[in-house]
Amino acid sequence: MAYKPYNSFSIAQTQFDGAAKILGLDEATSDLLRNPMREYAFAIPIRMDDGKNCIFRGFRVQHNDARGPCKGGIRFHPQETQDTVRALSMWMTWKCAVVDLPLGGAKGGVICDPHNLSDHEQEQICRGWVRQMARNVGPNTDVPAPDVMTTPQHMLWMLDEFEGITGAKVPGFITGKPVGIGGSLGRTEATGYGVIFTVREALKDMNIRASNTTASVQGFGNVAQHAIRLYEQLGGTTVCVSCWDQKDRTSYAYHKADGIRIDELLSIADRFGGIDKTRAADLGYEILSGDDWLKQDVDILIPAALENQINEENVNDISARVKIIAEGANGPTTTGADAVLRARDLVVIPDFLANAGGVTCSYFEQVQSNMNYYWGKDEVLGKLDSKMTAAYLSVSEMVRKRKLYMRDAAYIIAVDRVARACRDRGWV
Ligand code: NAD
Repeated sequence: MAYKPYNSFSIAQTQFDGAAKILGLDEATSDLLRNPMREYAFAIPIRMDDGKNCIFRGFRVQHNDARGPCKGGIRFHPQETQDTVRALSMWMTWKCAVVDLPLGGAKGGVICDPHNLSDHEQEQICRGWVRQMARNVGPNTDVPAPDVMTTPQHMLWMLDEFEGITGAKVPGFITGKPVGIGGSLGRTEATGYGVIFTVREALKDMNIRASNTTASVQGFGNVAQHAIRLYEQLGGTTVCVSCWDQKDRTSYAYHKADGIRIDELLSIADRFGGIDKTRAADLGYEILSGDDWLKQDVDILIPAALENQINEENVNDISARVKIIAEGANGPTTTGADAVLRARDLVVIPDFLANAGGVTCSYFEQVQSNMNYYWGKDEVLGKLDSKMTAAYLSVSEMVRKRKLYMRDAAYIIAVDRVARACRDRGWV
């Protein structure tokens, strides 16, 4: 992966400072909320398959738990840093608050590359992470989940270690578990569907029918695939998707003027969301440079891959036709690019609102696991739609009432909820 020139934590703090200023937060509240409440950084010693010992670095950052137990994923990534984890933990606090979940925000990670580790080595890392953190996580304190390069299998190893340590069955300790062993139906679709529930409401606000719109998407992984599918069901046409090509070590965009076919592309994609370029060309897709997803003459852009993808260098390439940018990825827009977007007449549905479907469904999983009683898929997706729609409507009402940029409106609602909880508890 390319070197990241932006520091996600300073972006998260700058975004928070803007909201704190609009809300007129006092110094103590700002000081509390612009930094995490607790941070853990630790070593995870592993005996590798070849008999050598290796030390991996693990993290957990609990940003704020005034509204309830912390919630947030664990990523495995070779470029993981404590600052990335800090930023993501802060975004989790706002994400849970904006959808009004009774949860706080956290994030975790391990510096490692699962591509180069055997299943047994990955299992040891999962179990080692839990051994280090078992005293400070749990169903009533901090509930982990999968994130980049972690899977339901990793969650199950973590649960098994936690249950071994605590001597009890506690499926509510962790979410993103396999369906049938404490997982929730609907979790796979939840984030992508959630993105489109917000897009659907934004289109209604603008009096535009989805069937008259086109979209371009960055990424073809979990979020992008389900977003494209639901958008298609609403009648929309996705004309371009981009993804990473592991073989060529670069990204490409795949374009079809009359609309990509999701099932066709899924049949030639690998499990990491990489599309086979040669077979795509055979199917009539135009192969463009990876950055071209952003330059398409469409109504809706959905960045659903990585951070910092809309930045100062490319923000002016966005077509004048674009009306909505729905941030499926976490932190896809840099602060500088955001300043350009807010000066334009388009709706940016901010990441922590647009992609909150994932944590909302994780919360549903937590609730089901704690009851040890599981709902049907329609029930889960129906509840998800209600939560996401209500969250979008409260933010769009704030946009109209106070004539705010949508990111600011979402921040104000979220930060205000968390600040109130801290004040009511007597912390500030
Ligand atoms: P994923 O690993 O399933 O898919 C990532 C996709 O991005 C792949 O198709 C990959 O090829 C593509 N990609 C990677 N580098 C790229 C590049 N330089 N240019 C274009 N495409 C590139 O990941 P995901 O679960 O879909 O998550 C995507 C984003 O959404 C991440 O920012 C993640 O943090 C965020 N997110 C995910 C969830 C979730 O439930 N999965 C929830 C909230 C937020």
